[in-house]
Amino acid sequence: MAFALPPGSTIGILGGGQLGRMLALAAARLGLDVAILTPDEDSPASRVAKTTFVAPYDDPDALAALAKVSDVVTFEFENVPARVVEILAGLGAVVAPGAKALAVAQDRVDEKSFINSVGVSTVGFEGVNSAIECEEAVARIGVPALLKTRRDGYDGKGQRWIRDAKDAAAAFEALGAPCILEAPAPFVRELSVVAARGRDGAVAAFPLGENHHENGVLRRTLAPAAVSPETEEAAQDIAGCILEGLDYVGVLAVELFELENGDLLVNEIAPRVHNTGHWTQDGCLTDQFEQHIRAVAGWPLGPTTALARTEMTNLLGSEVDAWTLLAGEPGVCIHLYGKRHAAPGRKMGHVNRLTSL
Ligand code: AMP
Repeated sequence: MAFALPPGSTIGILGGGQLGRMLALAAARLGLDVAILTPDEDSPASRVAKTTFVAPYDDPDALAALAKVSDVVTFEFENVPARVVEILAGLGAVVAPGAKALAVAQDRVDEKSFINSVGVSTVGFEGVNSAIECEEAVARIGVPALLKTRRDGYDGKGQRWIRDAKDAAAAFEALGAPCILEAPAPFVRELSVVAARGRDGAVAAFPLGENHHENGVLRRTLAPAAVSPETEEAAQDIAGCILEGLDYVGVLAVELFELENGDLLVNEIAPRVHNTGHWTQDGCLTDQFEQHIRAVAGWPLGPTTALARTEMTNLLGSEVDAWTLLAGEPGVCIHLYGKRHAAPGRKMGHVNRLTSL
């Protein structure tokens, strides 16, 4: 495949949720078409895409059909089975980001080991595969410590604090899967940096976001975060090391803990566009969705300069019912995902509230 892909080319996307939808909308602005592969009928992304294949992610026929129509294939979530990328590669499809980024992001132990291997700090951690190993790891790391499943955790699910060493075995049994035990991060703030690497190796980071969670789910991002120039630079360096280390193409998000002395630890990475980057849709010259499409299509990366101070608020569950009020509020940009059912806590949309810098 010759890059840059010209307008009229097709981007294949694994996943049909809101991230796929916003990627498809950004691709459309650049004159590119999108084909979606999703197991769900009537998905948010399929309603704005040129083509949709509804099938399990590892369905060989559907993957062959996706590969045939796509000039490059990307994904909107990281828990795509690893063999999917192998099948696509076997079909001659160009996949971005690649298999390494997926493998690293799917396993919390591999993820932290990789992050440390490129010279970036995380909390102390140990992989634990049994109740006894959990007790032994708690004896070394101390309490409190946070036990998380190695795989498939999201929005704070699959996690348990161990506050007393005698609860270690029971915590492992309750999660019932291979785990990671983490030392507590004494953070004063949670920040994130969303950054992109192009096919030519160019890297561009957006200004940092300051993130606030409720019940393990992102509620609000304030950006550009009020941080020192040193912190901004340190976060950009961290993102650069990770992007280089993964030989990455596309947008990646790095969740950070800011410690009292200003040091940063990486909590986790997401090899995709990210909820903490939604503020860029209205707050930056280029948004994270366009940036990802530019990167995977081999276009030059766009400028990441902030245009406004932005407060991004997720609309969870029935909060989306206030859409008329929100749409009428001055300085508010509203983004709805077109989901048919507003289950409690489900991400239905978000608003960006803008004020001048
Ligand atoms: P995660 O699923 O790893 O993103 O964790 C969800 C949330 O749990 C984070 O946003 C933090 O607020 C908190 N958390 C995760 N890991 C740690 C840790 N090692 N120490 C303290 N808080 C943590």
